[in-house]
Amino acid sequence: MEGEAVVVKNAGSHYLLSRLPEWKPFPAVLRGKIRLKGSAATNPVAVGDRVTWEWEPKTDETDPDMANPAVIKDVHERRNYLIRRSTNLSRQAHIIASNIDEAFIIVSLYFPEIKLPFLDRILVTCEVYRIPVTIVLNKVDLYRGFASEDIDTFKRIYEGAGYRVIETSVRTGEGIDALREACRGKVCLLSGESGVGKSSIIKAMDPELDPKIGRISEAHLQGKHTTSLYEMYHAAVPSFIIDSPGLRGFGLVDLEKEEIALYFPEMLRVSQACRFSPCTHTHEPGCAVKEAVDAGTISAERYNSYLGMLEEDGKFR
Ligand code: GDP
Ligand code: ZN
Repeated sequence: MEGEAVVVKNAGSHYLLSRLPEWKPFPAVLRGKIRLKGSAATNPVAVGDRVTWEWEPKTDETDPDMANPAVIKDVHERRNYLIRRSTNLSRQAHIIASNIDEAFIIVSLYFPEIKLPFLDRILVTCEVYRIPVTIVLNKVDLYRGFASEDIDTFKRIYEGAGYRVIETSVRTGEGIDALREACRGKVCLLSGESGVGKSSIIKAMDPELDPKIGRISEAHLQGKHTTSLYEMYHAAVPSFIIDSPGLRGFGLVDLEKEEIALYFPEMLRVSQACRFSPCTHTHEPGCAVKEAVDAGTISAERYNSYLGMLEEDGKFR
């Protein structure tokens, strides 16, 4: 027997596969060598990968189980993926998730206080990996009263840059339906610094899901005391959510200085009109980006993040 499925969990050498959009995870293992062309990844198979599997039923079995798991034969080409390098200098990379339809970056303006340059690095990383992004501005119930102007400013900056911003509050339920709709039918990466309310949001979208408990692992990989940082959940919507342990977990990308502006969509849009090419958008006369910053159509905050990244020698976390 053989088929195609998506990796929904990876725990050491054991995997769970499901034929999405159907949600019936079954165990699988890797046997033999699987090598992707040109890939220096330490893990050949990652959550989100579409794979071909094979299975030999023993006697009267109908489905793969832990005693007789399916065998992963082949990994299909990835549409996109996120990697983490083991060290700054290391060439080896660990693929943490692949084939992501959309990343939802969860932030809060206060409690904990947001750092915009940090958010901008995450957005650049998603652009580099060609993953569409939506920003989720959570905990608005806590600060709308005293900081409604800050909310307006935040939305002006990021909607102006071309990103969708969904305001949410787990406390009042505001925006949760909109977020659930935005996730519908997609493989989503939910990412957020610890404390912004990521777990609360996942639970609010689907009360059956508790990322801190990890339902799948209990049901299917019992006895395997391995933890998996990235795994997929099946939300009631239906959508498939890859929980991620935090923004710091991904996003070290190597960029040449002249590449950075390509990943600020609002800068890319106007940079064709710069007099010089390439243009670093710093000191050149006739720079369309600087003109847009002066005119206020590109926000000073985003431009400052760009300058900060230029100074950092192309390595960003
Ligand atoms: P995580 O670390 O990102 O998973 O954050 P948690 O979901 O554990 O939430 C951190 C804290 O923020 C908890 O005390 C939550 O109750 C609280 N919290 C989460 N979302 C909201 C919200 O929208 N409004 C308010 N007032 N508190 C929230
Ligand atoms: Zn320029």
